[in-house]
Amino acid sequence: LLLAARPLRALGTLNIALQEGLGGLQRVFDVIDEPVAVAQAPDAIDLPPGGGDLRFEQVTFRYPDGRMGLEGLDFVASPGLTVALVGPSGAGKSTALSLIPRLHDVSGGRITIDGVDLRRLVLSQLRDAIAYVSQDTLLFDLPVMDNIRMGNPQADDEQVRAAARAAAADDFIQALPRGYDTMVGPGGQRLSGGQRQRVALARALLRNPRVLLLDEATSALDSESEAIVHNALTHLRHGRTTIVVAHRLSTVRSADLVVVMAQGRAVECGTHDALMDENGLYARMVRNQAFTL
Ligand code: ADP
Ligand code: MG
Repeated sequence: LLLAARPLRALGTLNIALQEGLGGLQRVFDVIDEPVAVAQAPDAIDLPPGGGDLRFEQVTFRYPDGRMGLEGLDFVASPGLTVALVGPSGAGKSTALSLIPRLHDVSGGRITIDGVDLRRLVLSQLRDAIAYVSQDTLLFDLPVMDNIRMGNPQADDEQVRAAARAAAADDFIQALPRGYDTMVGPGGQRLSGGQRQRVALARALLRNPRVLLLDEATSALDSESEAIVHNALTHLRHGRTTIVVAHRLSTVRSADLVVVMAQGRAVECGTHDALMDENGLYARMVRNQAFTL
């Protein structure tokens, strides 16, 4: 774990914070170029107990280079529910996810978790409550066991295995030449893309997060990986709030709420069926096969 931490440490304080806070930090390479823009309030308060009620209230976000990421985004993710963010490329879906662990702060409006503005909270407590699984999984050339345990270094082997089972990763791991002791290779290259995502999901689940954020892969991956998000949505939704950037129709259909984004805003909101009836952008996307089946 220490060896694995070293290259990250070289990337600067942001990544150290992320590594500690997000555990299974996935998107190192997306954030290293960003200035460290977030700071903990001097009078920061503890995260209150709660089920992970997340509210975006008229959230505006401008990237440091001036580009508009979000413009008046409004939606509520209620405890225990799964919200799918959908919309054209560049709509601001990934940007919206990135604001939840405060990789950036909002430029206007606010985001609350269990009733408190994210900016008022002790940063480490906020990030401890969140697990983030992105499209590009960051694995280290260590045994699978250690890669998963990064989510919670205190977890014992049985807890690691339980998380792997919940992420539908246990079967393929046991079939590896040395099981959980198998080295995954640099960047996890000995595993398929789908297997890497499931290891990342297991790592995320080991943290038992109040909020689970998933950025679903855009491209059609192997059929194994398709099971990942599906599994997450059907079995892992209880007791937490899940927000998934969804590209597969099956994922969207199984969400409790679909938030359709365009140009940094929520333009439609509802269940799959309600949105089909509305016959707007979402229905058009489905008809035009904008989703992977
Ligand atoms: P989506 O995930 O819906 O495809 P993104 O959230 O990635 O959309 O992007 C939303 C907008 O923000 C786009 O216009 C994109 O170019 C811009 N953007 C995304 N990341 C960055 C960044 N790191 N720096 C500047 N602009 C960015
Ligand atoms: Mg995206």
